[in-house]
Amino acid sequence: MTAATQETHEFKTEIKELLHLIIHTLYTHKEIFLRELLSNSADALSKVQFESLTNPDLYDKDQPLEVTLKIDKDNGTLTIEDTGVGMTREDLASQIGTIAHSGTKKFMKEAAAIEAERKKAEDQEKKGKRKKKKGALELIGQFGVGFYSAFMVADKVTIDTKSVDRDAPAARWESDGLGSYSLSESERRKRGTAITLHLKEDEKEFLEEYRVKNLVTRYSNYLPFPVMLGEEKINTPEALWRKSKRSVKDDEYNEFYKQISADWQDPMLHLHISADAPVQYSAILYAGKTAPQDYYQGAEEEHGLKLYVKRVFIQDNCKPLLPKFLRFLRGVVETEDLPLNVSRETIQNDLRISKINKIIAKKFLDHLKRMATKEPEAYLEFWKQYERYLKEGTHSDPTYRDKLLPLLRFHSTKQADKPEVTLESYAKNKIDGQKAIYYAVGESLDKLRRIPHLELFAKNDIEVLLMTMPMDDMVITSLGEYEGMKFINVEAGDLELPENIKKEIEDVEVGEDLTKLKDKVKETLKDKVDEVRYSKALIDSPCKFYSQSGGMSHSVRRMLQEMPGGMSVPLKRDLELNPDHQFIKSLAGRLDNASINDQILLLYHLASLLEGHVEEPQELAGLMLPLLR
Ligand code: ADP
Repeated sequence: MTAATQETHEFKTEIKELLHLIIHTLYTHKEIFLRELLSNSADALSKVQFESLTNPDLYDKDQPLEVTLKIDKDNGTLTIEDTGVGMTREDLASQIGTIAHSGTKKFMKEAAAIEAERKKAEDQEKKGKRKKKKGALELIGQFGVGFYSAFMVADKVTIDTKSVDRDAPAARWESDGLGSYSLSESERRKRGTAITLHLKEDEKEFLEEYRVKNLVTRYSNYLPFPVMLGEEKINTPEALWRKSKRSVKDDEYNEFYKQISADWQDPMLHLHISADAPVQYSAILYAGKTAPQDYYQGAEEEHGLKLYVKRVFIQDNCKPLLPKFLRFLRGVVETEDLPLNVSRETIQNDLRISKINKIIAKKFLDHLKRMATKEPEAYLEFWKQYERYLKEGTHSDPTYRDKLLPLLRFHSTKQADKPEVTLESYAKNKIDGQKAIYYAVGESLDKLRRIPHLELFAKNDIEVLLMTMPMDDMVITSLGEYEGMKFINVEAGDLELPENIKKEIEDVEVGEDLTKLKDKVKETLKDKVDEVRYSKALIDSPCKFYSQSGGMSHSVRRMLQEMPGGMSVPLKRDLELNPDHQFIKSLAGRLDNASINDQILLLYHLASLLEGHVEEPQELAGLMLPLLR
């Protein structure tokens, strides 16, 4: 080969921006570069380990699987070398020279924002106000731009790499992180990758053994491969999940979480479990402090568990390990009971895996139950983040219904601001003769608390659950019953109220005027409403909508409309009038009035407004103008 094989490439614009940001704006926690590079090495080693199971003829197969750190004080370099899969020249160009990750742009935006905020906080600190802010840097791992963090401490980075692919020649990548990188051939014969950092003048601390050692034990202790510094192994590749719970400190759980999740915060909770029968497994499950952002992106979201078999890493984001609604969990599951050479397809259909799935799901839900009893505040924090997932579970997965019901939390008309009402506490609070659990669904608690439908319940001291998520109606409907009590939307036409209340509101005798008014309303609004009736369910309001059984409640309609690509569902509802209300009475007295039709139309709009919606704003404006004149 000749020198002609050396080529120089410009970085893509987004890489330049990223590098600029890394070099010039990020100052805090530069040391995490080592964690990022070590974790790339561990990934590369896992791949070799996996491949060696099926390929006896692996290139350089007798190399021990490990990472070696080399400090060269004379030349001011730190080298991270692994015996992993390595990269071909094409890999270098496509994996390192460009960012395939869609997260990069987002990363840069968030990083810039966070950095600005941090600076501000720092200035305030100088003025005496103490408040530490996280740096944007901690976001790096989260977005998978890990390798570039090398340029925080180095002004030149050289990668020498020989791919596990026997025929691929070794290759070298080199860059100062400014505008371009070069690709050339490399002398390397050993399988794997050596990344040499030419440390910046003021980053020479990373040439100190104690400093490097410290960083490894702090950030990368449980990498499943030895990390060597010279002859010495400086990490403890003993798998954390195999240790006994009692011997592991919270700090260790937290660090491990950060290693595997690429989250920069401590987790909200962890659960360490294991068993030998009916299947052997050990697992650590984590829930992050904040739920994944992409709930609504739906089914394709990644599951967060890593599967190990007999200490060998098998698969990331292993979906069959969890029921779908628990896909927010991060962590590790290891089992002895599977053969090493399992394929994705076998995992999918393996009975032992599906047993583990059920066991860990149940254990996790039991853990939540204990938490809800012992640390209700902490549980509410969890609920705030993961409510959607648990609710999803109640309707997507009947297996867990009974475990999920006690975990549900609700706002209610008897509860000021925290969602602390449980179905159990609701049932305890029911009034004599109450046969149903009442609920209202709407856009916001504020609006909900003022809908006319609640007047009757308030008067009779009946609690009503208040819900504001578009999914809530569907969730509640799928719950069916709780301890023999049906769930009934306060918009329903038949509220199945206790007998005495029912009698009181339904036996409405009205005079001739009101009967005529009702007919007139029906006729005037025939395109908008089906039924019109009088009822004493209303106290302060003149009217409200209700939906007959089988009819679509307003909240369901709203959900259908708000779904991506939502459909517009024609609205035709039923109208209930309050025979004791002044407005209704006066309408009845004005049936001959020339503008009676407009007034009735206004009544219809009023029912919407009282629910907090404007249905047809222009029509309403047209009706109001004459009044204003
Ligand atoms: P990420 O690790 O999130 O994919 P990086 O920028 O850190 O992002 O790395 C980009 C890609 O470069 C990796 O996905 C991997 O394919 C390759 N790579 C990085 N370091 C190594 C290494 N030590 N050995 C083999 N491949 C590597």
